[in-house]
Amino acid sequence: MEIRDFQRMIGEIYYRRDVERGKEKTMLWIVEETGELAEAVRRNDVKSIGEEIADIFAWIVSLANLYNIDIQEEVEKKYPGYCVRCGEKVCVCRSV
Ligand SMILES: [Mg+2]
Ligand SMILES: [Zn+2]
Repeated sequence: MEIRDFQRMIGEIYYRRDVERGKEKTMLWIVEETGELAEAVRRNDVKSIGEEIADIFAWIVSLANLYNIDIQEEVEKKYPGYCVRCGEKVCVCRSV
C-alpha cells in the first residue's frame, strides 16, 4: 500500500472524529503513543514495538489530514532517494 492510499483510508475511517477531537489533542495522542513506544523499547518487546510504531504512524496520518498535508508528497520532497546533505545514495555525512 502506498502512503497516499493509507492516508486516504485513515481519513475515510477517522477524519470526522479527528475534526471533533481537534489538532492539539491529536498531537497529544502522538506523544502518548510515543511514550508507549519508549516503554516497549525499554522492555525490548519487539511485538509491542511494532504495534506502537503502527499506532504512532496512524496518529501522525490523522494530524496530517487535519492540516490537509499530503504525506507522500512531503516525504518524497525531503527524502528523494539520496541524502539531501551530501547527495550520496548511501549517506557519508560525518557530523550527525
Ligand atoms: Mg499504543
Ligand atoms: Zn549524507
